[in-house]
Amino acid sequence: MTEKTNRPKVLCVDDERDILDSLDRTLRRRFEVLTATTSAEAESIVAQNLDVSVVISDHILGDDRGVDFLGRIMKEVPQASRVLLSGQIDMKAIENAINSAKIHKFILKPWENDELLIQVVEAQRNHKQLVEKDRLQKLSITDPVTQLTNHRFFQEKIRIEWEKHQKKQSPLSLLMIDIDHFKKFNDRFGHPEGDRFLQLVAETLQLETPAKASLSRYGGEEFVLILPETNPPEALAQAEKMRSAILEVSFHNYPLSISLGVATAPEHASSVDELIISADQSLFQAKRRGRNQTVVGLHFDH
Ligand code: GH3
Ligand code: MG
Ligand code: MG
Repeated sequence: MTEKTNRPKVLCVDDERDILDSLDRTLRRRFEVLTATTSAEAESIVAQNLDVSVVISDHILGDDRGVDFLGRIMKEVPQASRVLLSGQIDMKAIENAINSAKIHKFILKPWENDELLIQVVEAQRNHKQLVEKDRLQKLSITDPVTQLTNHRFFQEKIRIEWEKHQKKQSPLSLLMIDIDHFKKFNDRFGHPEGDRFLQLVAETLQLETPAKASLSRYGGEEFVLILPETNPPEALAQAEKMRSAILEVSFHNYPLSISLGVATAPEHASSVDELIISADQSLFQAKRRGRNQTVVGLHFDH
């Protein structure tokens, strides 16, 4: 049975077994050491250990090169610190390695064991900082109730999509979504149940969200969907799909429905702010016309 540890994982890759044994002896005091003699073997270990902290690779790996291998795993485990081992001093190779595979450390053979341990501990600290940075970054754009992206994310994303829309001359649609009579539900079942209701709606909308689109909680019981490269009929179809999906959801036998406002640039708006206001005005109309419906493209009204 393999021993389960909480120690950080280090993957060592070298085509010489002796080198791997030596690395293992030095590092196992502080780390859970994984080893591989080929880059193919190492890549399959990485795929099963996405929490790996440090990957140490020899420069020459049979037919493969350490730099290429470390560059490839950057996509899969971007937060792992990459350390390159090498027997030769070639400044050009070091420079290339640092640039192409974003190598964090370069260790020359033969090394001092204590020195190596210090270097790998430092590499692991670097990994921990990246993980923490990523966690805070995600937290800053996540709504805590629904786990959808939040208003801040939406405001940034819509501007990025607006730039693309202008550059590519492709339509950009926006859906504003508001739960009908949500206050009554809250009053009847209480705020905590209201939160569960919001989570259920968020999950349902998320399931209906196409890969290219982004769904955010706009605030309160309002959601917003950015639909790049989507014209008004397509945006209406998307809105109606979401509206139908919500009608299927059952919670406390409460009649659950949403109203939606759709706007598309360039048809209904010539700026981000106009697009948001136009979708909002359409949503307002949907409420006025009796709720549980979609209104498309009320022109931006000054
Ligand atoms: P309408 O059909 O016109 O949209 O009516 P409504 O009741 O859905 O809309 P209104 O704007 O009158 O009320 C929104 C309610 O949403 C009021 C507020 O208590 C509730 N709400 C907003 N944010 C949250 C939240 O995070 N959790 C819970 N439980 N309720 C929330
Ligand atoms: Mg509402
Ligand atoms: Mg509202």
